[in-house]
Amino acid sequence: MATYLHFAPAIALAVAAGTHRTGWRLTLAGAFFAVLPDADFALVTMGLDRYSGPFGHRGFTHSIAFALALGAFGGLWAGPGWRRRLGAASFLALCTLSHPLLDGLFDRGICNAWLWPFDHARLCLDWRPVPMIGVPLFGVERFQRELLWIGVPLVLLTNAALLLRAGWSSVRSLAINGRNPCATHG
Ligand SMILES: [Zn+2]
Repeated sequence: MATYLHFAPAIALAVAAGTHRTGWRLTLAGAFFAVLPDADFALVTMGLDRYSGPFGHRGFTHSIAFALALGAFGGLWAGPGWRRRLGAASFLALCTLSHPLLDGLFDRGICNAWLWPFDHARLCLDWRPVPMIGVPLFGVERFQRELLWIGVPLVLLTNAALLLRAGWSSVRSLAINGRNPCATHG
């Protein structure tokens, strides 16, 4: 698990999508949803399931179905209009899904029950590049590694997405002006 930066993909997604679209409330909800799957620790602490059980750590809260369900639930509160709700639901589902994806990239810890409730098996990603074995769960070293392996790639990906958006907007406005030459001459 990321100790510090599970919220970061939500912020990156909001910036990449355009914060004028998401707004601060949805962005904050996304950051909360991106952290929420680790609430499963509470279920283990309360003794409701063993650590590696379907309701244990990285169990049902780290599944694709949970992300979709949480996204759909959050979308219901997004205000009027199906497009707005669908957009919010998609954003929130992606934010939630970013959590098991980040966990899955770390080289330590048990794997996620991605396919719950259809399959309770813990499935590891083939590619687990983030080196966390031997790194304490809290502290400066942990923070530095997360900055390097999560923060830096997210900043690069977000900037790439912003560049793509800017390029796409330019192409669109050129195409529109090309169809209507009078548009550029007032
Ligand atoms: Zn987790």
